[in-house]
Amino acid sequence: MKNSYSRRDFFKMGVGFGAGALFSGMSLKAGGHKNDGFENGMRIIASGNGIRATEKAMDLLRDGADPLEAVISGVNIVENDPQDHSVGFGGLPNELGVVELDASVMYGPTHNGGAVASLQNIKNPSRVARLVMERTDHALLVGEGALQFALAHGFKKENLLTDEARKIWLKKKEQLTDDDFWFPPKSDNLEDEIRSFVETHGTINCLAINEKGDLAGVTTTSGFFFKIPGRVGDSPIIGAGLYVDNEVGAAGSTGRGEANILNCGSYSVVEFMRQGFGPEEACLRTLKRIAEKSRLQPRLIDEEGKARFQLNFYALNRKGEFGAAAMWSGANFAVHDGKVNKMHPSAYLFKDNNTK
Ligand code: ASP
Repeated sequence: MKNSYSRRDFFKMGVGFGAGALFSGMSLKAGGHKNDGFENGMRIIASGNGIRATEKAMDLLRDGADPLEAVISGVNIVENDPQDHSVGFGGLPNELGVVELDASVMYGPTHNGGAVASLQNIKNPSRVARLVMERTDHALLVGEGALQFALAHGFKKENLLTDEARKIWLKKKEQLTDDDFWFPPKSDNLEDEIRSFVETHGTINCLAINEKGDLAGVTTTSGFFFKIPGRVGDSPIIGAGLYVDNEVGAAGSTGRGEANILNCGSYSVVEFMRQGFGPEEACLRTLKRIAEKSRLQPRLIDEEGKARFQLNFYALNRKGEFGAAAMWSGANFAVHDGKVNKMHPSAYLFKDNNTK
């Protein structure tokens, strides 16, 4: 199981885990990455699909941009990329073939945030989320209201469903059941095709700290492929997909949103950092709690009592220390430490025997 499998139908995951007690494969290696003092501690971190975002965001920070503008400009690259089928333009649609986007932003210096959910036809929901924060007294706008708000601010209405995304959706629809009037798709390797599109991508989360120690974050996504129309994931929920406290640190998430919403994941990561745990350890402790709670819902656990889904947390503290952890091994995250922009392996709770 890989990080990239986060958006697969988790019930279909065929993973061969070795025997052992719950949490036997757990890695609680504390530490994370220490601030080495590069560039006065400026740092940008992002989910595994965010290496272009961290590069762009660091360029902007160096030019004096505020950290929120830096991370939003970073994730805009991915929102605008039709090849990334999990975010913005080209995102995979809901079961009706409609692309619905979720996003949130949070700004440390004012402890303010904004979000949009189930937003259709607008390429950059992260920018609309920022305007919700800056131009309204609200924190979250959804659906038609969010669209009208975006249009009022001059955003262009666009068709976000690319031809490639439409074809993936159509194949999925055609093979759903034999008990309807749709013939099965011509290609018989549908599962592999869908997986190859989905597995290298995910929602994007990006967090930044500037040379003054101010923090900001953004999370943006098209959510689960084939979701029920109107389904809202964790990305636009402040405290779940994103949380920033300028006095402590910032955290964000990708992966199974429902598990995250029900456990206020990013808020929990920041609270663990407030208690003095390093970013990586704070992510692992949150995942451990979520894994334990999942045991109360048998459909969410495997025969060994381990959570049957992927969930990732990314964290950055006020000192510029950073870390990330995933429910299952194999995940990674992007970091620009002011000097080098590169991928780092995430810590993990459970070892997937199919990954190194
Ligand atoms: N967290 C996203 C959601 O639940 C999906 C993902 O990151 O794969 O909408």
